This record gives sequence, C-alpha cells and structure tokens, in this order.
Amino acid sequence: MELRAVRGMNDILPEEVERWHKLEGAFRLHAELHGYAEVRTPLLEPTELFRHQMGETTDVVEKEMYSFERHGDQLTVRPEGTAGAARAYVEHAVHAKEPITRWYYLGAMFRGERPAKGRYRQFYQAGCELFGDPGPLCDAETIDLIAGFLERIGVGDFVVHVNSLGSAGTRERYREALLAHYTPRKDRLSEDSQRRLEKNPLRILDSKDPRDHEVSRDAPSILDLLDDADRAHWDGVLRCLDVLGVNYVVDPSLVRGLDYYTRTLFEVKATSGDLGSQSTLGGGGRYDNMIAGLGGPSVPAIGFAMGMERLLTLMPGDTSRRRPGCFLAPLGQVGADRALLLAKQLRALGVSVELDGRGGRLKSMLRRADALGARLCVILGDAEMERGVLQIKDLAAHVQEEIPLDGAARVLADRALESSPGGGQRGAR
Ligand code: AMP
Repeated sequence: MELRAVRGMNDILPEEVERWHKLEGAFRLHAELHGYAEVRTPLLEPTELFRHQMGETTDVVEKEMYSFERHGDQLTVRPEGTAGAARAYVEHAVHAKEPITRWYYLGAMFRGERPAKGRYRQFYQAGCELFGDPGPLCDAETIDLIAGFLERIGVGDFVVHVNSLGSAGTRERYREALLAHYTPRKDRLSEDSQRRLEKNPLRILDSKDPRDHEVSRDAPSILDLLDDADRAHWDGVLRCLDVLGVNYVVDPSLVRGLDYYTRTLFEVKATSGDLGSQSTLGGGGRYDNMIAGLGGPSVPAIGFAMGMERLLTLMPGDTSRRRPGCFLAPLGQVGADRALLLAKQLRALGVSVELDGRGGRLKSMLRRADALGARLCVILGDAEMERGVLQIKDLAAHVQEEIPLDGAARVLADRALESSPGGGQRGAR
C-alpha cells in the first residue's frame, strides 16, 4: 500500500524549515516592535463561528471548510485566524482588561481549494489583529506594518491595494446599486453569481470567474456612495498612508472574500516573481461589528493575514543548514564509550555535537563530518584512549593535533564556540 500526503498538504523537510524559522522570527520581531503579542487559539472551532462571521455565501464557507461532527459538536478545522482570535477576545472579556489589544498569530489554516502553485489545502498564515481603536491612523499603521515587514524580509516588489466598504448603511445602498447594475445583465454571470445575486451581490465583484469580471467591469464604485462619516475615515486613512510614504493604489473593485469587513480593506500583491495568479501576499481590513456580533461589547477591530508559502517563494536567501560544532568519530568500543560521555559534556557546554556511532572506517566518518560542515572532527581511537589523548581535526584549517582526554570537553567547547559564533550550531549564511 502506497500512502501519500493528502492532496494540497505539504511536508516541510528540515532543509526548508531553516527558511521558515527565519521568516517566522522576522515576523515575531516585527510584530513585537509594533506592540503585538502572540496569541494561540485552537485549530478546531465550532462550525457556527465561521458560518456566522465569514458569511454563508462566501466561497470558504460554502465549499472549502473541513467540517465534521464529533461527540455531538459541529466542528471546523480553522480556515483563517481572525474569527478564532475574536472569539477568544470575547470569551476572555479582554476588553475589560485593556482598552487596546494587539495580537499576532502564526499557524496552519485549512481550506479545500483546488491546489495550485501558491494555493494549498493546508497553508500557513502570519496575521495581526488589533481590537479597540476605530481611528484611521491605526488602519494606516496596520498597512504600513505589512509593507515594512515585506521590506524587512527583502521582498521589495509589491503594491498595496486599498478600498473602503463603508459601514452598514453605505453597504446597503451599494447593494441596491449593484443589484440595479447586475440584474439586467444576469444571464451573462456565472451560475454561482446568478445564485448569489439577490443574497449578496458584493460577492460577484470578488468572483474568480472571467464571465463575472466582464460584467463587473463598469459596475458602480462604492467610494462614490460613502456617507460623510465613512468618507472622513477613508480620507484620514489615505492621508496617513501618504504621511507614512506607503506605495498604494485605490482599488474600488477590492471587496475580499468575507462578509465581516467594514470600512478599510487592503490587499498586498507581488509585482514580480513567479506566483502567477496567486500573487496576493496578504490582505485584511476592518471588522468593527464582529466583536458585538459574537456577544461582546461594541469594540472596533482591524486585522490582516499573510500567506507564508507565498512569502517564502519571494524571500531572497539560500537555505542554510545547521552545522555541528563537533563531530565525534570513535574507532572502537573504548572510544565509543568515551565519545558518549564527551558528547553529553559538550552539549551541556552549548556545543552542538554529532556522534557517529556506526563504528565504520575513519575515512567514511571524515567524509561525513565534511559533508555536515562540522568545525571540528574528534577522533577517538582505542590506542589513543590508552595513552589518555584524542585527536582533533580542524576541518576548515586542515590541521590536526593531539590533546589530553582530561579536560577535553572544555578545550573543544572553547575551540568550537570561538570558531563559530552562535555555539557552532549554524553555518555561515
Ligand atoms: P485570506 O485569509 O483569504 O485573506 O488570505 C490571506 C493570505 O493567505 C492570502 O493573501 C494568501 O497569501 C494566503 N492564502 C490564502 N489562501 C491560501 C491557500 N489556499 N494557499 C496558500 N496561501 C493562501
């Protein structure tokens, strides 16, 4: 029987994980510099949470969720992070503890989409959620956070698309305007959009079907329908983005796939690289009604998520590997016993060690030490053990010397740590 990974779900092998760590580390640092703290919520949430918050007629909820029943509960493996974070915010009454909350998360999300390059069924997102600040300044800061992050990891070619969906009153007027636009053109829409027309015509703007694109080309713009308060907020966001020097375009066709958004929306798209149609690196927006919708008080919120696989495709830099500080090559039983202890002592001193316990020939062990990029190879032959010494081979300097067994761990640790900053654990990048 040949078993393979589930379609659209990838193994990430150790040689790739190094780059993941780099990306995750950069994100943690960047988010923390902006005052965000990490939150971890469960992978499983009540199905109702997503159905309610993301919207019944969204692609994710209609077709893509991994949902099942267990012990009488309807559960869904999270397709995104915002709804779970908002649920946790309400459940723990965080609003009562602090007026403004900034949370970030990193983790796997699951959507049964058609797999393609840059689109998977299990994928990883890094995201931020900010609760408690309705002002345009924080919308602009959130967008600038993403732009700054991309620059930090060396992704320079991107553009930020921004739009405003207004608040509920504006959206209702926009719904009417869209209905008036699409109804006479209904026959030219995709089947999905024909079905959604009455219930949620905004979704048609977001459709991936080329037939819908065609009909949407001259659809009315929501920016023409904003009421005074929405307009003032929107103008404020653009002004702050200008202050921050963010490179953005106003894109009235941007509606994004979920129902929970209000006012500011944004998406960041790569303008080079080979992501093809999956060039959206991240996106988000304001969701001022979600917390109240979950039974909490009226707390405004804004957030975004970025796709880690897509970022990794564009992030420059080689895969670097871990290199042991010391490679131990025992040649007989006495040497092997001694090597066991020596390895333990060296690790306690902060040196990474690989012990070759295969008992093979010295030549093949040296070849292995070289392939791993070890700093030092320590040869523990039985004859040397009898004399109370061991051999150290500095693989970079190509020199070999003999040192006493007594106190060898300290000597080796000093050498390994001095020749390789960081404990000999990481190679040159
Ligand atoms: P969304 O939650 O749909 O706004 O997605 C935010 C970001 O997550 C997108 O811009 C993508 O970079 C990434 N993303 C969304 N869906 C997938 C997927 N199926 N596979 C890989 N990345 C994804």
